[in-house]
Amino acid sequence: MGIHMKKYINTSRRINTKESEEWGFIVINALKKVWLATLIIELFLFIFFQPNEECSRAYYFYLFVARPSIGQGVWLAAADILFKKCIKSKSHRIVSLFMMILVSGFAAIAVWVHTSVGLMPVALLFPMVLCPFYRDWKMMVLQAGISTALYAAYQGYFLPYSPYLPPENLLIDVTIFAGCTFVTLVLEEQVNLSYILQEEKSVRDSLTHLYNHETFYEELEYHMKRYEEKKETFSVMIADIDNFKKVNDTYGHAFGDEVIRKVVVAFAEGHGNNDFSARYGGEEFAMILPKRGIEEAAGIAENIRKKFEEIAFQTELGEKHFTLSIGVAEYTKIYENASTFFEQADKALYEAKRSGKNRVCCAKSAE
Ligand code: GH3
Ligand code: MG
Ligand code: MG
Repeated sequence: MGIHMKKYINTSRRINTKESEEWGFIVINALKKVWLATLIIELFLFIFFQPNEECSRAYYFYLFVARPSIGQGVWLAAADILFKKCIKSKSHRIVSLFMMILVSGFAAIAVWVHTSVGLMPVALLFPMVLCPFYRDWKMMVLQAGISTALYAAYQGYFLPYSPYLPPENLLIDVTIFAGCTFVTLVLEEQVNLSYILQEEKSVRDSLTHLYNHETFYEELEYHMKRYEEKKETFSVMIADIDNFKKVNDTYGHAFGDEVIRKVVVAFAEGHGNNDFSARYGGEEFAMILPKRGIEEAAGIAENIRKKFEEIAFQTELGEKHFTLSIGVAEYTKIYENASTFFEQADKALYEAKRSGKNRVCCAKSAE
């Protein structure tokens, strides 16, 4: 699939309520992973702990394994319930604020419990990693404020009143550093994943899950540029369902939608790995076939046409079959823009319709 995600990342777009809801779940799931990872780290450090006069193994376990795990666990479980019960359908600002408090509190518990560990306050910066979720600079400023306030509380109160400060220890520092790196990676992965999912949705058509019209043209321009740079040829096709108005009129729009969805099945049959399919318009579908000349493309179009014709639809009037007309064109010279080139395929489609439908026609080369 020759799609280039970076082109579609638009960080200036505000999130909507539904997206903030989805991202809320993503944040909570990320924190669950982090919770498990921290528990493993705590247990690892506990194994290597040497008891001393100030601190027995049992007291160490209570301070550094039980307290943080239970504290964070309860915090997370409460947030999970609260989120599902009353926060998730609120405005994106409220959801973002809720997430900020959740993640900041989660980090603060770890920091306050491990007051003596030099690197620990770094954890207060983790919530900043999630800020891109909110896509709102005010939220980022607020988060920076929360993190700073927590750091001040740590320096002014929690550090001086810590119940037990273990001696400095390289193993602890190294483990905490490794743990922090892991946590950052988990959070980053979640952020990236959600962006990719979000952007994927905005480039696809909801009925067929093929790429949409706009994305098709972006992809087409990309291939035109490649042709200019590398003389790499490619073809396009446009398929249109024959007499579709009649299908809608006879069997209803819901049935019509079903017929549209089935075009995807036919397209999938003749599909090479690098081919790019889109729903061009209502009952029109387009495909870009990289590195394929007109004859090969016409062969694939013919396979698609046959496949579609074979698909049987059950109707109250018995089993029905529908057909496609397809126009194919190859990019053999430089065109001014994508639509002037695509017109060649469109003309071929018109020719297929004019000459009786249910057939594939090719554009005259370099017209
Ligand atoms: P031709 O063989 O010349 O293509 O005839 P046609 O009846 O298919 O004509 P045309 O391509 O102009 O018809 C397109 C019709 O497709 C019109 C519109 O009602 C219908 N249509 C467009 N989008 C959708 C959709 O998403 N669902 C359904 N059910 N119908 C759609
Ligand atoms: Mg049409
Ligand atoms: Mg049609």
